Amino acid sequence: MECHCQKGMHIFEDHFIPEIINPESGEVLPYGELGELVFTPATKEAMPLIRYRTRDLTRLHAEPCECGRTLVRMEKCVGRSDDMLIIRGVNVFPSQVESVLLEMSETRPHYLLVVDRENNLDTLEIRVEIEEQFFSDEVKELEGLRKRIKANIASTLGISATIRLVEPGTIERSMGKAQRVIDNRRRL
Ligand SMILES: [Zn+2]
Repeated sequence: MECHCQKGMHIFEDHFIPEIINPESGEVLPYGELGELVFTPATKEAMPLIRYRTRDLTRLHAEPCECGRTLVRMEKCVGRSDDMLIIRGVNVFPSQVESVLLEMSETRPHYLLVVDRENNLDTLEIRVEIEEQFFSDEVKELEGLRKRIKANIASTLGISATIRLVEPGTIERSMGKAQRVIDNRRRL
């Protein structure tokens, strides 16, 4: 639960043993590092779980909270380990791209990440749908918008990406979970 300081959720460590692991290697990571949350309920009876992998990605913080509690705190989850991409050694989540696009009024949260590998280097192209009214604008303005998206993506993701603006409705919609990623590296 979260306390009034709102510095993340306190985990009741007398009942749950939390760990953060590297989702690829399974290695346990120190406090403060981003990884997959693993729980072992210490007092649960009848159906014990040992090191249950939640697939949720977050960080744990061990410094005592301003409220006085010394229980470990977990941050808001940033994504699912199943969705995590490693591009040029950097962990990238489609949800990060989504948050950038939601903050910009010109774009829609419809996007597609295309990951590939050229000359042993990972490439990332992000196709972004933009709002109808911005498509009638001049090429110069579209170019300005493209550059702003590129800068916002670079500062959030920590890597640069090629941005391709597409017309509204061009990115395929699906009934279930939207397909946000095409990773062509997997064919190699
Ligand atoms: Zn607290």
